[in-house]
Amino acid sequence: MKYLEEFQNPELARGLLADIRATVTRPWALMEVCGGQTHTIIRHGIDQLLPDEVELIHGPGCPVCVTPLEVIDKALEIAARPGVIFCSFGDMLRVPGTDRDLFRVRGEGGDVRVVYSPLDALRIAEQNPQRQVVFFGIGFETTAPPNAMAVHQARKRGIRNFSMLVSHVRVPPAIDAIMNSPDCRVQGFLAAGHVCSVMGTGEYPELAERHRVPIVVTGFEPLDILEGIRLTVRQLERGEHTVENAYARAVRPEGNPAARDMLEDVFEVADRAWRGIGVIPASGWRLSERYRDHDAEYRFDVHSIATCEPARCRSGEVLQGLIKPHQCEAFGTDCTPRTPLGATMVSSEGACAAYYLYRRLGTPAAPREASPVG
Ligand code: SF4
Repeated sequence: MKYLEEFQNPELARGLLADIRATVTRPWALMEVCGGQTHTIIRHGIDQLLPDEVELIHGPGCPVCVTPLEVIDKALEIAARPGVIFCSFGDMLRVPGTDRDLFRVRGEGGDVRVVYSPLDALRIAEQNPQRQVVFFGIGFETTAPPNAMAVHQARKRGIRNFSMLVSHVRVPPAIDAIMNSPDCRVQGFLAAGHVCSVMGTGEYPELAERHRVPIVVTGFEPLDILEGIRLTVRQLERGEHTVENAYARAVRPEGNPAARDMLEDVFEVADRAWRGIGVIPASGWRLSERYRDHDAEYRFDVHSIATCEPARCRSGEVLQGLIKPHQCEAFGTDCTPRTPLGATMVSSEGACAAYYLYRRLGTPAAPREASPVG
């Protein structure tokens, strides 16, 4: 398949690994920001193939994982109300709130529906004018443009019974927060290629310069990841800290201007809480004043909901790269994908779920699936 198989070529992978081995002379800790990249790394055993000097730290780039418990509880509260049709992507239905999840709400009679696009939810609103239809709009810069488009269309077409519960987050402020943490061990970043395909690379040079950290825009196939690691290690060994684009087949410096215009029209930058990390200034979006009528938080007045994180879950430390998932005492025992205690075990992009799925149970020789680069 074009752009997949050619980026999983074992021979090319071996060449990139050899180049990394020949370049590295001392220990370096790199963070892949995106959960999709974490999934590729664990699935293909890339971290186990790297020389010992190169450590990969799994960052907070899984949208399901960083959605705060407070927002999940607000979704549960709204979805349980009579007359509401609550629409969401499927991966949010199993995310545990304080005392239940959206599946439980549906089992108790709530009208919770899985959709594949926010425009599907808009269509449901058109077809059910007597009901309130709410879409759960979460994610990074990648999912924000279609969500913005749905709200824009609702306003333009006068679909007043459509609203959105918004919890969008932005990558650059998260990188800034990680680098400002006193516990930070990260020395280089693999930036998420799909985020940059929307937003471009303009926000990164200042971050790279201020924190003196290389940032390499990277894709999602094994060769993309290895090339991103190779370029980051090369910069570190040379004492450089610039922004490089290793995903030029999808990322232009200016990103996608039409998508950015839509974001600017519908959203405004706001402080956001990240699950397990806390509030990061200017790290997210909310609906702007002009679209407030379509903001589910206002429509359903759920501002006062308070939350309580499960005390045993260490997903905050996982999301900041301070521990590996199997170092959590609950990993694989009380906490599994069927019985998740935290969001990093629920989502297939979460680091805990990836470690569990590919049998990283803390044993160095744990078996794994056949890998194109292994
Ligand atoms: S294994 Fe489960 S309890 Fe432990 S950090 Fe991951 S999600 Fe939380």
